[in-house]
Amino acid sequence: AYRTVVWNGPVHYLPYYLPCPEIFSMKLQYAEEKPVQLFPQLVYPQPRSLEQKRLDVLTLTPWLAPIVWEGTFDSKLLDGTYKPLNLTIGVTAFAIGKYTTFVGRFLESAEKHFMKGYRVNYYIFTDDPQAILTAQLQPGRSLAIVPIKKYSHWQEISMRRMEAINRHIAAVSHREVNYLFCLDIDMVFHNPWGVETLGERVAAIHPGYYNVPRSHFPYERRSSSAAFIPDSQGDFYYGGAVFGGLVKQVYEFTRDCHTTILADKANGIMAAWQEESHLNRHFLSHKPSKLLSPEYLWDDTKPKPPEVRLIRFSTVNKDYGAIRD
Ligand code: UDP
Ligand code: MN
Repeated sequence: AYRTVVWNGPVHYLPYYLPCPEIFSMKLQYAEEKPVQLFPQLVYPQPRSLEQKRLDVLTLTPWLAPIVWEGTFDSKLLDGTYKPLNLTIGVTAFAIGKYTTFVGRFLESAEKHFMKGYRVNYYIFTDDPQAILTAQLQPGRSLAIVPIKKYSHWQEISMRRMEAINRHIAAVSHREVNYLFCLDIDMVFHNPWGVETLGERVAAIHPGYYNVPRSHFPYERRSSSAAFIPDSQGDFYYGGAVFGGLVKQVYEFTRDCHTTILADKANGIMAAWQEESHLNRHFLSHKPSKLLSPEYLWDDTKPKPPEVRLIRFSTVNKDYGAIRD
């Protein structure tokens, strides 16, 4: 407001005060540039202190982390804030064994909807680089194939992602990206996924358990597991198919999850839902700073309830018997 007074007034009155034409035009030029910088052409509805945008869903956790639902954010406003930062957003996805068939659809849909207009690096981890069909990428976006060995059981393949992501961050991606999302490959983007999802530590609420009591969450319930959570505890049930955050934070929590997975392995235990159980245990004591609503992790076999206005990212129906070795 202070700068407005300084610059909006003098533009009109300069001719009377400044007889020298050069100075006048210099000043005018400055005056024309400044207000544009100070007041970018961002017109958006005023946030109202006594108005809630969504009354049907929780939009803030008790530890004050936002829960991202359609209607709670303004993409234009967010882009105005984030675009100038020239961020690079990384995506890891694993395509091991027959899961290479999912890569084409995943990438094609991501190019349409994921972080449109931002720099994106895809990291596709695979045991079979030849089998990867890459999509046509928009400018500023790149894809790297990360060769990785295949474990024989699907549970091991799924769990070892924590280790592989963690090592890859340390070796490569910490230098290449600011934020990183780690996603399942058997999924497709259907609607925009933008910078509203960026945060230090980001978890997604699982579509199957967003409306059930904590005692019904499929947490690991054996106290002998490092992923153990008793019936009386838990905030949300987070999906293992979507997590992310600042690359340094993702480095730290993937390391912790891998460590607890190894501890279980040493004791001859595998948690009920593998790395998802360990992730849930981790996020219970290290709360995520932002939660994504089930819009960002949906399951196509479920009918769309009214509170889910947009399905942004959803599973592809797959024949488990045929696809898993
Ligand atoms: N995955 C893979 N090959 C396999 C099993 C799993 O590449 O044989 C990867 C893939 O990225 C997949 C993720 O691990 O999306 C998790 O497995 P899946 O999607 O089968 O688990 P679900 O979502 O059905 O629980
Ligand atoms: Mn999946």
